[in-house]
Amino acid sequence: MMEENFNLNDRIGNSKYTMETLIDDCARFLKNRHWDDMLRFINEYPGQKSMYISFKKLIRHGFDFGNVMIDFPNEMFEAMRIALIEKIDFPIDVDISGATVRIKEFGQNKISIHAFRETNIEQLVSVEGIVRKATNVEAIYAKTAYQCLRCGHVTLVPQSSIAYVENRMEEPYGGCEEETCGKRGPFKIRNRLSSFVDFQRIQLQEPPETIQNGGQPQSLEVVIVGDIAGDVVPGNRIIITGILNAINLTNKDGKTVACKYVLYANYIEHIDKGFQEVEISPDEEREILEMSQDPDLFDKLVASVAPSIYGYEDIKLAILLQLFSGVPKITVDGSWLRGDIHIMLIGDPGIAKSQLLRYVLRIAPRANFSTGLGSTKAGLTASAVKDELKNGAWTIEAGVLPMTNEGIVCADEMDKMREEDRSGLHEAMEQQTVTISKAGLIMTLSAKCSVLAAANPKYGRFDEYEGLADQINMPPALLSRFDLIYVLQDKPNEALDTKIANHILNIHRSGSKARITNSTLPGYSDPDPLMVKLFESCAPPKPHDGEVKEYGSPVIETEFMRKYIAYARKKVFPQINQEAHALLLDFYISLRKNNYGASGNKNPISITARQMEGMIRLTEAVARVRLKPEASAEDAKVAISIIHDSLRNVGMDSENGQIDIDSVLVGRKTSLKDKIKLIMDLMDGYMKDHQTREVPLVYVVEGLVDAGISEKDAAEHISRLLRDGKLFRKGEEE
Ligand code: ADP
Ligand code: MG
Repeated sequence: MMEENFNLNDRIGNSKYTMETLIDDCARFLKNRHWDDMLRFINEYPGQKSMYISFKKLIRHGFDFGNVMIDFPNEMFEAMRIALIEKIDFPIDVDISGATVRIKEFGQNKISIHAFRETNIEQLVSVEGIVRKATNVEAIYAKTAYQCLRCGHVTLVPQSSIAYVENRMEEPYGGCEEETCGKRGPFKIRNRLSSFVDFQRIQLQEPPETIQNGGQPQSLEVVIVGDIAGDVVPGNRIIITGILNAINLTNKDGKTVACKYVLYANYIEHIDKGFQEVEISPDEEREILEMSQDPDLFDKLVASVAPSIYGYEDIKLAILLQLFSGVPKITVDGSWLRGDIHIMLIGDPGIAKSQLLRYVLRIAPRANFSTGLGSTKAGLTASAVKDELKNGAWTIEAGVLPMTNEGIVCADEMDKMREEDRSGLHEAMEQQTVTISKAGLIMTLSAKCSVLAAANPKYGRFDEYEGLADQINMPPALLSRFDLIYVLQDKPNEALDTKIANHILNIHRSGSKARITNSTLPGYSDPDPLMVKLFESCAPPKPHDGEVKEYGSPVIETEFMRKYIAYARKKVFPQINQEAHALLLDFYISLRKNNYGASGNKNPISITARQMEGMIRLTEAVARVRLKPEASAEDAKVAISIIHDSLRNVGMDSENGQIDIDSVLVGRKTSLKDKIKLIMDLMDGYMKDHQTREVPLVYVVEGLVDAGISEKDAAEHISRLLRDGKLFRKGEEE
């Protein structure tokens, strides 16, 4: 493919080369620098069709030679191909006419997707990105056999992938090649006599961390031809080296309406490294190790998570552990145990859920944000879409989870997710893969990431008496994938309200100051003015300087915190020791017991082995924060208290003090619910009997006392219903 007819005597740009001398130099280069590689190559051919050359060696061969590679890659690859196939005397006689030369170790002309300009057209470039969409691999014509219907002669016409992308095919423009015929058709295409090549198209998207302030990620269309087609799936993070080109986009009438960049891939390097990418100098390593010994380590770290948000220390700690993550494992039978910790925040509007999520975007070494339905067509998991350009062929498009390998997905408004995600997320969050099968395409994508989700209750406000799963429009099975669930209620509380309001006022005061002095904004996807101010006010101050900090600034510099996390995830893989093991086991068993004990006939689906795994992950994460190779009882205790708090937060039955996780996932708070039902029944009965809508208070209280409830409790329940607006005092109704 991409074969062009070059004239041997053509001068190549301003270089010293003609095509002919370039071919000779290529042969010299191959012999001198890649002799052993070539021997290996001919040995494996045709099982292996790519001969890899090194750009580093190319530059060493000659500066001019290297420049020709960058500025005239089409000529260079063709010269290399001819040199390899025709100009080298191999010790054995081989036909390698189908060989392709590919270039590796090319870091020279690395360009961000948003930075492509027309000067880059027909240059060799390399781009880093994440595969967002990929078509399935299909065969296209390499050479099409046109048989002349007048004389029967077959004319072979080489195709280019450019033509294919532009939806057209090269034809025998010069007419039938048979000398005595020469007619311009008609022709018939003979597949049996044609040759084919594998072909795939992908869409590459800029990695989240390189996106410019507030910008949308840009993407680039990439064409992959030959044996490297099919090596990537959506979600892969890769560096592609190839030739940039522009193709014509045509409208229905075949008129050119615009041009668009397309990269013709020559070499693909996988770099799914995640935290590995963060570079840590020896000095920083020393600083990190020093800090891990700080007795106030946890306090300082927690204070540096979203300092502009008041309170929520428990949630901030949980998020911190999520950033460090547990240790992923592969069991002896080969199945995958995730180390990633998933967290769900459910609650009333306006209590800083979205803000917390956005904050995590800033500290995590790698993170992606998604919000409700609006985000992308592919949603959180993936989808099969009909490709706009390519005659409606099915293409797999990766959603946010597969696009965030080794990172953290902040999924806001998760209650509003797509139907497909609702089912796909079970697999995505537990096995950490996304399988999509549609229209004959089956593909499994990797989704090794953790999820920090926020959801608003279905009815606007959180209702204590309803089951959680019901309220946020999410099946219990999916909810149970979250290691930690927090319910945030916006209840009026004067003392707390004052503190939060003061905090916000202070943030705004120092925020407006920062706005004048600091004009650079951190990158995040959709800025809202208040966020801008808050972020500015959190611009990392220099640590250890002892000066008074701006209000709401983190204790630990964000950049350093990111390095600390990356270091821990890269280097520390704690194992749970004996004592910690015993503690976790005890806690788990007691949870199970309580779970049965609270109400004997309960369906014991609730506290399951999944919670046990969650405890292990959290314990490992705690040890990781301390950079310890062993997770001790001390670490387990922290994990246990976090889980206990989270369970109590969502499921503690205020009546009997037991943790009732059923109510979390499926049902209501059993005992409370029964009492409320009793109250409602009493009132219904009275209203029917007396044909009225007013029920005397004493009647209800007496009814409750008859049912064995203390007078004090009865009064409390009624006043709670009044407070929640479920009952009205006479004269108060609207
Ligand atoms: P949610 O996503 O929960 O609906 P937001 O994250 O959009 O809420 O927050 C609404 C606003 O309220 C934000 O601007 C935030 O600064 C403010 N806010 C609410 N609670 C707090 C708090 N505890 N500390 C600081 N700001 C808060
Ligand atoms: Mg919100």
